[in-house]
Amino acid sequence: MKRRLQLRVARAIIFLILIIISVMGGFLTWQFDMTSQKLHHISESKLSTALMEQLSQKGIDTTVYMSEALTNALYSYDMEQINNLISAITIQEDIIQSLVFDDTDKILHDGTALINTFGQNIPTSIANGLSKSPNDVYVLKKENRMIFAHYVFIGEEKIGGIIITFSLANIRSDIENLNSLMSKVQDSQLQTNFFSILSIAIILVILSSFLAWKITSSFVMPIVRLSKYADYIGSGKYDFDMEISDNSDEITKLSHSFNAMRNSLKKSSSQINHLAYHDTLTKLPNRRLFIKKLELAINNYDRNKTKFSLLFIDIDNFKNVNDSLGHDIGDFVLIEISTRLKNSIRLDNLTSAIGVDCSRPNEDSTISRLGGDEFTILLVNISDPFTISHIAQRIIENLSQPFTIKQHTVYVGASIGISTYPDDGLCTSNLMKHADMAMYHAKFNGKNQYQFYSSEINKQVMNELAIENDLRLALEHNQLLLHYQPQINLLNNTITSVEALISWKHPEKGYISPADFIPIAESSGLILKIGEWVIDTACMQLKSWQSTLASNLSIAINISAIQFTQTKLDEMIFETLDKYELPYHLLEIEMTETAVIKSKQDAIRILSRLSNAGIKIWMDDFGKGYSSIGYLSSLPFYGVKIDYSFIRYIHTEEKDRKLCQAIISMAHDLNLIVVAEGIEELVQENIIKQMGCDYAQGFFYAKALPSEDLFTGILDTSVFKK
Ligand code: C2E
Ligand code: MG
Ligand code: MG
Repeated sequence: MKRRLQLRVARAIIFLILIIISVMGGFLTWQFDMTSQKLHHISESKLSTALMEQLSQKGIDTTVYMSEALTNALYSYDMEQINNLISAITIQEDIIQSLVFDDTDKILHDGTALINTFGQNIPTSIANGLSKSPNDVYVLKKENRMIFAHYVFIGEEKIGGIIITFSLANIRSDIENLNSLMSKVQDSQLQTNFFSILSIAIILVILSSFLAWKITSSFVMPIVRLSKYADYIGSGKYDFDMEISDNSDEITKLSHSFNAMRNSLKKSSSQINHLAYHDTLTKLPNRRLFIKKLELAINNYDRNKTKFSLLFIDIDNFKNVNDSLGHDIGDFVLIEISTRLKNSIRLDNLTSAIGVDCSRPNEDSTISRLGGDEFTILLVNISDPFTISHIAQRIIENLSQPFTIKQHTVYVGASIGISTYPDDGLCTSNLMKHADMAMYHAKFNGKNQYQFYSSEINKQVMNELAIENDLRLALEHNQLLLHYQPQINLLNNTITSVEALISWKHPEKGYISPADFIPIAESSGLILKIGEWVIDTACMQLKSWQSTLASNLSIAINISAIQFTQTKLDEMIFETLDKYELPYHLLEIEMTETAVIKSKQDAIRILSRLSNAGIKIWMDDFGKGYSSIGYLSSLPFYGVKIDYSFIRYIHTEEKDRKLCQAIISMAHDLNLIVVAEGIEELVQENIIKQMGCDYAQGFFYAKALPSEDLFTGILDTSVFKK
């Protein structure tokens, strides 16, 4: 395509010049031919005329001379002298015949020995010609000869005459000689001309080739080059050397404009490319680029069998940063996270950290931000669990260090899922899915840890997904139930409240513990619907008890952290209480510390409104998490519930006893009521009683029971405070 234009132009120029040469050559040859023919013709006729004139003059002179010379011989009829005279002139080459005739026009002598024509009349045509002008030489021109005749006079009297016939053969031969000479000259001239034309043609061909080369190199080549550059640009290649001459012609100007256009396209294309393939905040590759890199790594494996790993990182508690400190600080944290991630996989860091000499550099590895607080790392050339564990651990350690941003100290963590190619998936989507599953598992298991993908995890996650599906159906088909577990006032052994605990009666699997499905409901968002159902069911139940059995009994419901993201949670609670016409103080709310951590701003706002309306707020499972005293003092808590894990061995473990004592003393100092969860034995009750604990809850008193069993079966209604 590129060469074609160049070739076509060169061919066209040469072809054009060849045509011009041929036409000119042909024309010149034709003209030369015509001119030489004309010249030939003119020369021939001129020569012929001249020779004829010469012969005429010679014939006339000879005839006149002979007629004078014959005067005496004729007069005296001297045949011998006549013969001598005739013989004298007949020896001339061009004289064919000489006839001497008498006064009666009869032939006297013809120059032959026997005078064969003696006595014959001279030809009539000559006789007539002579008689018309007797004093002049009569000239008669025949095809091959010229005849001259003249009378011989003595005085006025005609005594005879002479006829001399000249041959024209000599003249013809002279003309032929001239013709052949002319042809020779013409031929040699033609040959000379041919060589001249050939030389001119060769020079012209050389000149035209030079011209073609010059034109193509000056005009066509730059255009061909520009078209090649346009092809590059069209296919998205901008990094090529552009040849631009130093001339100031239009093509050079065009080339400069083209170069400027290329540069601006390159710039905008690289900007677009960067935008399309990078995260605008952290400048890290985005999901699209990461998938491409992953595909590349898979293709490389097909060639050189180098395994690689994928780390799926989810930042723990990041939503809390955004919610509590705002998105600006959140953005700074994400940028800092990206820097720490880069540092975590640096080869020098790795080598020194794990003592493994990674022979190949880690520069091909890719860190990307998938979106939100999710990051991925492609570790090229690294697939052994030992090295990966160290990298993952290093990432966790680096991200666990506090971030100081604008006078704020922020703590996050990371849950990491790891999959390896080709063991954990043969395509990008499976590798990503499995690393994500492993991450989900790590998060599920308590966050800030890493987890390798395994078929076991797969099973577990699949099982969780199945539970999620079944849970949706459970909501639709009323498979969820609330059971109630009494809380005992240790001062007077009365029951003032019950905790509503959800239970799921699965059609095939039987009862499923909330510990098994609440986390799944939380991660899938189903907890919002379940939460609404719990509030409504608990209030309905409270209403039914209030009118019959226990008018002052209150119900504690568990509210998940996710529910605090519902901006109208407080409104919904008030509306439900109003719907069943219940006094607000009969509803209690239990929430864990994570609920405060995950959505502190929302939690503060909602809890304040609920507390102001008389609803008691409990910090559930205290001691299990961060156990921040700050939260206890800054939020409107009514009391704390000591986690079951501290109670379980309270009678055997001194450490647990000390912890419980500390929690109770601290809570009391903060004017908070304390409940001990999970009392199973009398000895445990005795210990917490001595410690001054206010309430107790546990199997020792009652399990969580269906509402119908609560008053009839196990418990004596007298223990319920009326
Ligand atoms: P929780 O709020 O701390 O509830 C107390 C858990 O301890 C209940 O487990 C209860 O059955 C169990 N328990 C009570 N006494 C004893 C005892 O003496 N020994 C032992 N070993 N366990 C005892 P359950 O019903 O399995 O609930 C587990 C968790 O599920 C709850 O812990 C709560 O965090 C959550 N949960 C339950 N119902 C709901 C609900 O309606 N909404 C939300 N968001 N979470 C709920
Ligand atoms: Mg609870
Ligand atoms: Mg609890």
